[in-house]
Amino acid sequence: MISFISFFYEGGLHVGCVSENKTYELPHKDMRECIESGFDCSEKKEIRGIDYKLKAPLMPPKIIGLGWNYAEHNKELKSSDSKPIVFLKPPTSVIGPNEAIILPRISNQVEHEIELGIVIGKKGKHVDSPEALEYVAGYTIILDITARDLQWEARKKGDPWDICKGLDSFAPIGPCIVPKEYVPDPGNLAMELKVNGQTKQKSNTKEMIKKPPEIVSYISGYMTLDIGDVIASGTPSGVGPIKDGDVIDSEIEKIGSMRNYAINE
Ligand code: MG
Repeated sequence: MISFISFFYEGGLHVGCVSENKTYELPHKDMRECIESGFDCSEKKEIRGIDYKLKAPLMPPKIIGLGWNYAEHNKELKSSDSKPIVFLKPPTSVIGPNEAIILPRISNQVEHEIELGIVIGKKGKHVDSPEALEYVAGYTIILDITARDLQWEARKKGDPWDICKGLDSFAPIGPCIVPKEYVPDPGNLAMELKVNGQTKQKSNTKEMIKKPPEIVSYISGYMTLDIGDVIASGTPSGVGPIKDGDVIDSEIEKIGSMRNYAINE
């Protein structure tokens, strides 16, 4: 298995890959170029003895969130919506592994949501479901951090979710992108999120209402999917609050694990 990362050292951001516990630097200027090359590793150079800092594997042109895609979660949040809701998270919400989720002054209830991140590898509009995985480059972990109090307020008034989902640092992404060939069935991956070592969300992507190919097809019916876009495919039940000082560990089978911290603004 090879996974793809972005990391920072010597004042610059670099793209690399990890294989059998070795880390390599790649010549691609950013992850988009790496995806466009088909994850070409032919010019990889091993890096050793360098203290680098892992960053979000990519800066997506857009992040598309899907709400109400796990039946148990729809129950816990009392949703009676008959079809998934689509929303956007801005690039300013992106942080990487080991970075802090900032709990904003304007909210008293910020909650965690672990989600499978679908990374788009080919531009597409009105993609048919059977061929939708052709448009996928790979998978990552994304946390769809949500200011739940602001979301309840928005839901009551029929307002959009841009604010409650789109605050700074509300989209931790990482630790890597795993190309789709190493994830033959994205619709059957165990996932778990812990807060301070305690399991809060534990499920499997097979509980999704819309499966990954249907999700890609569904969203592409509304907007063009571009290379490097990330789809946050919905969260299972068990969502709950995070507070100052909390340590959040998320893990998805075949992808990896990522740690983040919560701190007050
Ligand atoms: Mg969500």
